[in-house]
Amino acid sequence: MTASAEKFTHQTLLNVTPLTPSLFTLRTTRDSGFRFRAGQFARLGVTKADGTVVWRAYSMVSSPHDEFLEFFSIVVPGGEFTSELSRLREGDTLLVDRQAFGYLTLDRFVDGRDLWMLSTGTGVAPFLSILQDFEVWEKFERIVLVYSVRETRELAYQQLIAELNERDYLADYAGKLLFLPTVTREQHPGALSGRITQLIESGELEQAAGLTLTPEHSRVMLCGNPQMIDDTRNMLKLRDLQLSLSRRPGQVAVETYW
Ligand code: FAD
Repeated sequence: MTASAEKFTHQTLLNVTPLTPSLFTLRTTRDSGFRFRAGQFARLGVTKADGTVVWRAYSMVSSPHDEFLEFFSIVVPGGEFTSELSRLREGDTLLVDRQAFGYLTLDRFVDGRDLWMLSTGTGVAPFLSILQDFEVWEKFERIVLVYSVRETRELAYQQLIAELNERDYLADYAGKLLFLPTVTREQHPGALSGRITQLIESGELEQAAGLTLTPEHSRVMLCGNPQMIDDTRNMLKLRDLQLSLSRRPGQVAVETYW
């Protein structure tokens, strides 16, 4: 098979940045033919020492208009893929599927006033892509980004999030975004304390946002830990917020990471 007929391209690592012993970011070149919608994922491949390739799904952090691709990764101890990925350095090769996938995209919602993006850990990745794209700022009046981690030092991309409201092309939308970091295993000034589900149940999340979760106004995206997603979906169902499907538009869209 010729390289162009393959389902993937070879990209070069431009940058690898460790954040904590178990979290890092990586930036690669981008094939000019690779297209995606903000919120989607690609399958990434690493070649092991024995020549076999391991593939895993990764959400893009970068926006569809960036010239590079950026990813945010966990290191799973003994994990087949992340053990290899975390060894890569600038100049190494990463395989990237030619096609992007996924439905954690804004076209899931036909209407709505407030967008809630609820994430755990690396699940913040697709929301960073969505926030760096123009559409979300035009489409919603209020945007709430909830980013839940165990320890404060795991809160990544703080500078990017802080600077969103200052980007020139978003100048007209300044103030729409509310960022609510939540830390589950420490007290941190400026962050909510507790799991996302606890914060919904107690009413703290809505109070902090100054908004109520309702089927009329709220559109909710969930990404990351499958338990958080299941539990939150059940809580939202009790409030008549339903999963959005192509044949039946609703208020909730999800991406489960494992
Ligand atoms: P695996 O054998 O795949 O996983 C082992 C165990 O590690 C899992 O059972 C789970 O308990 C835990 N685990 C896996 N992924 C995570 C995670 N992200 N955070 C915490 N615990 C985890 N991972 C990322 O780091 N960044 C992403 O942007 C990302 N996007 C994804 C998008 C989609 C659609 C899906 C389905 C998964 C995504 N993942 C992402 C998870 C990723 O595909 C792999 O599971 C992860 O890289 C670990 O691979 P592994 O082979 O080392 O371990």
